[in-house]
Amino acid sequence: MSTVAAPEIEHGTPRGYRQHRARKVPYCEPCRVAIREYNREARRTATQAQVAWNKGLTGEPEARETRPVGRDCVTPGCGQLAELPQPAAHMVRVEEPGSREPARWYCAQGCAGYGQALAEIRAIP
Ligand SMILES: [Zn+2]
Ligand SMILES: [Zn+2]
Repeated sequence: MSTVAAPEIEHGTPRGYRQHRARKVPYCEPCRVAIREYNREARRTATQAQVAWNKGLTGEPEARETRPVGRDCVTPGCGQLAELPQPAAHMVRVEEPGSREPARWYCAQGCAGYGQALAEIRAIP
């Protein structure tokens, strides 16, 4: 299946929350709860990664495992507004002139591609 034609909003999931946002559909309560849980989990995971890093694993942490991209990305700072400081060295600034989507930081490659596509969609009048 390669179609990206709008599937049903997956209510009660982080993906559903982002589908609301992408389609400008008002958020429903299950989706609000889901994104809150999701963000809490992302923060917890980030803290563990930082602890591991500080135990002598110096240098850039390698991102070699398969991970969700773009709207499902759990990397702290991914998708953050670019007016804020760069969240991490591997993050790239994505900006599309004329887009309603503001400039944001994304992980290089997958997430940046997602962000670019989103910004381009929102540049369409
Ligand atoms: Zn919903
Ligand atoms: Zn990302």
